[in-house]
Amino acid sequence: MATQYSQEQAVQLLKQTYGYEQFRPGQQKVIHQVLAGHDTLAIMPTGGGKSICYQLPAMMLEGVTIVISPLISLMKDQVDALGQLGVESTYINSSLSYQEEQHRLQGITEGKFKLIYVAPERLENQSFYRILSSVTVSLVAIDEAHCMSQWGHDFRPSYMNIPSWLDSLPSKPVILALTATATLQVQEDLQLHLSILPTHSVVTGFARPNLQFQVVKGMDKRAYITKYLEHHQSEPGIIYVSTRKEANQLADFLNKKHWNTGVYHGGMTEPERTASQEDFLYDRVQVMIATNAFGMGINKSNVRYVLHYNLPKNLEAYYQEAGRAGRDGEKGECVLLFSGQDIRTQQFFIEQSEADEQFKKNEFSKLQKMISYCHTEGCLQTMILHYFGEEEEQPCGRCSNCLHEGESQDCTKEAQMVFSCVKRMRERYGKLMIAQVLTGSSNQKVKQFNLDQLPTYGLMKNQTLKSVQAFIDYLVAEEYLGRTNSEFPTIKLNELAVNVLLGQQKVMRRVEPEVQRPEEQDE
Ligand code: ADP
Ligand code: ZN
Repeated sequence: MATQYSQEQAVQLLKQTYGYEQFRPGQQKVIHQVLAGHDTLAIMPTGGGKSICYQLPAMMLEGVTIVISPLISLMKDQVDALGQLGVESTYINSSLSYQEEQHRLQGITEGKFKLIYVAPERLENQSFYRILSSVTVSLVAIDEAHCMSQWGHDFRPSYMNIPSWLDSLPSKPVILALTATATLQVQEDLQLHLSILPTHSVVTGFARPNLQFQVVKGMDKRAYITKYLEHHQSEPGIIYVSTRKEANQLADFLNKKHWNTGVYHGGMTEPERTASQEDFLYDRVQVMIATNAFGMGINKSNVRYVLHYNLPKNLEAYYQEAGRAGRDGEKGECVLLFSGQDIRTQQFFIEQSEADEQFKKNEFSKLQKMISYCHTEGCLQTMILHYFGEEEEQPCGRCSNCLHEGESQDCTKEAQMVFSCVKRMRERYGKLMIAQVLTGSSNQKVKQFNLDQLPTYGLMKNQTLKSVQAFIDYLVAEEYLGRTNSEFPTIKLNELAVNVLLGQQKVMRRVEPEVQRPEEQDE
């Protein structure tokens, strides 16, 4: 199959049929793989252009393409749109009369259609199966494929039957799974269920070149926000907070300072929420202070900034909320105000939830990555893209880390001290205890566990407890150290740390200007 279709043919067809000059990067790769006969997982954001990834191969391949989609209401639109382009397609679902359904099934056997849209439930229908067995199915596109994963946000049991249905087909079609859900877990799940090679996953298009990401630490949050708003007079923006109480308190504070703010959270009545949303939409209020209840369905394109007053629970949530800035393509700022106390709040939320242990563990691990985002010195946009599995090597050049001026310092020696201390403590303790041992604290627990007898006790006694803790955070963020996924995480050595201990790798860190950090209260 590999040599049968050329890239030129595909580009030609793109121009002819759709009138587009070129493929987006992800599309090209996906289509190339599909035409080469490789089962493929395509992950692109909403609006990224997933439809073309299966429609175009469908036109080029012989036989039919089955498109499995959970969205019955959208099938008709897709079929109509294809009709406009001169491509014969149809959908079979429960909205059709018996006669109409028979008519369309007949059409399939006569080879009238290139694409057939169905809901997953249809696959179990015997007469549909018989008809498909009489034609060549070249490609099966699974739209909204995250519905197959329990880790996805929209799991549907009917999607679980797709793999066995695929196996039951008389000849094996190429499989193309598509989704906008980009977490690694969902990806891995789909690869597993559909036997897609990791190397045949294509993740693209999640970068937001008009957004500038910032992490700000050690500030007085209210003072920061007051100042920030002064610099962003008359620009619409959102401030996300983690609780309803916090939303009301911050709104009161800002209203007293004569800022025109609105509030939105799950504790308000439906009419209150609608009114608040509309005030923001029509620029009657400038700043929206909201919990994560504010999001679904907001369609305001000129949001210029999204501030996070508290730490979000994970990077998916963060990127989705921050991503509400700059939807018009103009510049937007996404600022996360970090304080150590917020970690506790999020840990508490996870601990209190009714979910099972494995799910909680998973949430702790996601939270850990969120914390690492706050402590990394690498490019923030790149870190987010890596989290979603996108291979992006170029730093963005815009985020607060990319723009940070200042030298890096070799701190390999200090890192080695920390690592050997972690090792001596048998990787059984958390950040605070390690920092206490290194600074030679006379804390009771340190004595009780005989940790003051360790050769690493007091190795860093010229440093403050806070600065050693911050250094450990940094080493975790850069993945020299790992943290267990639990409410009281313990620190362990990663392979990178072993390399440093062996003298095979250096640890560099930014030199920070000497500032007093009034608020920091890390655990
Ligand atoms: P998704 O299914 O990923 O949400 P769609 O397939 O609906 O996205 O595509 C989103 C929009 O982008 C559509 O209007 C589509 O016509 C347009 N589009 C897709 N591919 C290209 C391209 N290569 N060049 C220009 N526009 C494109
Ligand atoms: Zn950057």
